[in-house]
Amino acid sequence: MTAQLIDGNALSRQLRAQVTQRAQALKQHGITPGLAVILVGDNPASQVYVRNKVKACEDTGMHSVLESYDASMSEAALLARVDALNHDPTIHGILVQLPLPAHIDAHKVIEAISPAKDVDGFHVASAGALMVGQPGFWPCTPYGCMKMLESIGYDLRGKHAVVIGRSNIVGKPMAMMLLQQDATVTLCHSRTTDLKSLTLQADVIVAAVGKRNVLTADMVKPGAVVLDVGMNRNEAGKLCGDVDFEGVKAVAGYITPVPGGVGPMTITMLMVNTLESAERLLSNRAN
Ligand code: NAP
Repeated sequence: MTAQLIDGNALSRQLRAQVTQRAQALKQHGITPGLAVILVGDNPASQVYVRNKVKACEDTGMHSVLESYDASMSEAALLARVDALNHDPTIHGILVQLPLPAHIDAHKVIEAISPAKDVDGFHVASAGALMVGQPGFWPCTPYGCMKMLESIGYDLRGKHAVVIGRSNIVGKPMAMMLLQQDATVTLCHSRTTDLKSLTLQADVIVAAVGKRNVLTADMVKPGAVVLDVGMNRNEAGKLCGDVDFEGVKAVAGYITPVPGGVGPMTITMLMVNTLESAERLLSNRAN
């Protein structure tokens, strides 16, 4: 068997075209969806991420503000900026790029963002809403994975999903989203014993670890759907995921590549969340 690719670039293009149309429709009501991105310090990877986010806003007809600050910015000054953006009517989504410099408490900063503008979905209120199945913002990476499953018409009811990695931003919310769609979910981590015995039972595997070759062909049931969230570099410095792509491709039913898989979906879902935040404002106005 050779797995079918789930193309994150193609799906992103489709979804971003829909975002562009919906943003256009909102403009007719006098609302331009707006995202504020705050970057503190000069981490080169973060600089690339924030540039891509701002460009995605421009491409979809949304308003964006990039605030870049020196690494010496105080926590109090950052909290004051977040507070000002919470009250800025032109801003519907606020994103503080992580990691923050060590002297700033990232948790405190995330909790200062109004849950109504928490388009990254990292606020405790957003995590709680996902946990109990109430409306809120879903973290963009696992949300993108769910869209990929939807794009292949995959029915999760009664399926066994194995998530490898339990971070607050990927693994845990991923498990909650799969559970919400009636999958039976196993959440694995570094202390899991005999990972292979679990992945071999899985209909869906999501690898979100940050280590190459965490998932190899001998660990995958024929026909399984494999979503690779990992972003690593191989010996040649080339971007690769957590999955041994060439090996697993020969066993799985569907697989996401790296690059061109989950990565582009993450920014796309940020655009979707920002747009939906602005749409909620309109519907609240109408009620
Ligand atoms: P993280 O916070 O470092 O979490 C990694 C998780 O993997 C932890 O739960 C850890 O377990 C678990 N783990 C480590 N070694 C393991 C092993 N040998 N077997 C099973 N589990 C193991 O990472 P993250 O933020 O979730 O990110 C994971 C990966 O996804 C990274 O490569 C990151 O760059 C990538 N990522 C990609 C996107 C995207 O847009 N494509 C977005 C976010 C993240 P413990 O909890 O026990 O330590």
